Amino acid sequence: MADIFDKIIEGEIPSYKVYEDADVLAFLDISQVTPGHTLLVPKKHVDNIFDYDDETAQKVLLTLPKLARAIRKTNPKITGMNISSNNGESAGQTVMHSHWHLIPRFDDDHLNE
Ligand code: 5GP
Repeated sequence: MADIFDKIIEGEIPSYKVYEDADVLAFLDISQVTPGHTLLVPKKHVDNIFDYDDETAQKVLLTLPKLARAIRKTNPKITGMNISSNNGESAGQTVMHSHWHLIPRFDDDHLNE
């Protein structure tokens, strides 16, 4: 059965796309931890990191730094970025289609408090 990110990839559910190529899609998280919070997903369905083949890993890892730089360019106030992925329900994964959070950080975002 298609998960919610499969439906976003297929365009059945709308999203604010940040980047797309043949292998990956990046779109804004519906619940922004900070402005610009983006999710990167491989288009090939893999539940989480435990299912990655080398090709999927390569596509995602090659995209992350480029995407991080592109997001940073959108706002001069971005001074850092958290990049993370929850893998498995016990780790807090709520959508069972692998995704990477890119969360821009700002000097005054108070998230470390
Ligand atoms: P997880 O908790 O699995 O690491 O992250 C899932 C993320 O997907 C959450 O941050 C949540 O806000 C986001 N999310 C869930 N449903 C949707 C949706 O329909 N559209 C978008 N853009 N993000 C979603």
